[in-house]
Amino acid sequence: MAKTNPPGFYRIMLGDFEVTALSDGTMPGFNLQQLLTNVSAGVISTALDREFLRDPIEGSVNAYLINTGPKLVLVDVGAGKLFGPTLGRLIDNLRASGYRPEQVDEVVITHMHPDHVGGLVADGQMAFPNAVVRADRREASFWLSPIHLDAAPAAQKDFFRGAMASVQPYVQAGKLKLFDDGAEITPGVSVRGLPGHTEGHTSVVIESEGRKLVLWGDIIHAAPVQFPHPEVTIAFDSDATAAAAQRGKAFAEAAREGYLVGAAHISFPGLGRVRLEGQAYRWVPLPYGVLR
Ligand SMILES: [Zn+2]
Repeated sequence: MAKTNPPGFYRIMLGDFEVTALSDGTMPGFNLQQLLTNVSAGVISTALDREFLRDPIEGSVNAYLINTGPKLVLVDVGAGKLFGPTLGRLIDNLRASGYRPEQVDEVVITHMHPDHVGGLVADGQMAFPNAVVRADRREASFWLSPIHLDAAPAAQKDFFRGAMASVQPYVQAGKLKLFDDGAEITPGVSVRGLPGHTEGHTSVVIESEGRKLVLWGDIIHAAPVQFPHPEVTIAFDSDATAAAAQRGKAFAEAAREGYLVGAAHISFPGLGRVRLEGQAYRWVPLPYGVLR
């Protein structure tokens, strides 16, 4: 028995763009009964039963590499060293997919939680030495503020320290650039704010030749529970009420428009579509296939 999976990358074409989902690994101890809020224990266990799952589930951490032709854009970078040995695989998987970290032109951060920024650094150096790192202005002013770090409860201080340490080498090199809601990163790639999970939580909209992919960031953490119950929130939400409202809107829009969605914490590769069935949403994973 080899007891390993092949490298975690999965590739599709979106119009003229090539999209590569990259796995950063998984979190094997993702305990929904402890982490989910605004929900009863019974609703969680019924939802898990329906998908043959048992708590704690194994949660994916995914990032997405977009080759537009002129630009190579990476959306989120995984946890690096911040979340233990089952994560931090992004660079290995990026190399296995045929690219090198120094080829990345733009890194877009959906938000500054450790599992989305930790991979910016490797051994204290910039892991993507030729990239500009782009983040929402509200997100940066929240997580990079020493005043907020001081005011944060003890349990949350590491989130601030992780964000600061991950971004710092790029700040020093003059390579952290902040965007406002709606900004275009490069033709076909733009950002759209979905604040709630964090102050400046952002989605990334990819469009080519009439096809559309929306990279959700952390609109959803626990697909088996939150698709049927979008009102269910998670302990990491900065503003749980706003996060639930954004999730409801994001699900409704995705179901109505039928575009492709990519999500950081839906089981790898986290690519699919959303369907509304009665009162509940259902995730429809993208079928496996050749590139065209
Ligand atoms: Zn996350």
